[in-house]
Amino acid sequence: MHKYLLLFAMVSSAAAFAQGDPKATEVWSPVPKVIAPAATSTDAPADAIILFDGKSLSEWVSVKDASVPAQWTVANGAFTVKKGTGNIQTRRSFTDYQLHLEWKIPENITGEGQARGNSGLFLASTGGGDSGYEIQILDCYNNSTYSNGQTASIYKQALPLANACRKPGEWQTYDIIWTAPRFNDDGTVKSPAHVTAFHNGVLVQNNFELKGETVYIGKPSYRKHGPSPIKLQDHGDPSEPISFRNIWLREL
Ligand code: MG
Repeated sequence: MHKYLLLFAMVSSAAAFAQGDPKATEVWSPVPKVIAPAATSTDAPADAIILFDGKSLSEWVSVKDASVPAQWTVANGAFTVKKGTGNIQTRRSFTDYQLHLEWKIPENITGEGQARGNSGLFLASTGGGDSGYEIQILDCYNNSTYSNGQTASIYKQALPLANACRKPGEWQTYDIIWTAPRFNDDGTVKSPAHVTAFHNGVLVQNNFELKGETVYIGKPSYRKHGPSPIKLQDHGDPSEPISFRNIWLREL
């Protein structure tokens, strides 16, 4: 009896393929979980971790000393780099994620090249200082610099696919999908990091495979790390400091 049932199942399944049954290629399980999206796509959806709510830097600490809360200035629903206090990073560590972040170059920005509103978003901070993987933040609305160091570049590794900069004084968005690198026990790379990024809704990095951590001089290389904080740069150039708001993350 069972034998005939099995035979029938095999025959009918084979027949489904043979006749081009669309059901043969339908996936019904698993079912992606339902997430209530925000009213606008820049607002945090229901399952996001809010990294800045417009009021408090409680999710951020000083990079120089992680026991010290971030010292940057919070006002009017945003926070601004407080020059000389150094980089800040998230209190929590992450691996793979989707991140939304908004930033603004001051309207009265001065300077040129890399000294014009320079900051940076380190997608994983692997140590102190400027360690990690930097996507550049800079005013490149009407400011030329080396292409692999302009806004939305993976600094000195990948040119942005477009220059989508808004004018100084206007809020801009980054939406980023980060896949962290994986390492073998001996420290060698199991799989490199990948990044996809949108600047003001324009695709600027398309699943770019990173060659290693960002370095100012020389060639990038990897060193083993696990889950890492996200870091923002106090660059120290003499131009007016830049501001951030509405930062949220979904772990993947
Ligand atoms: Mg920078």
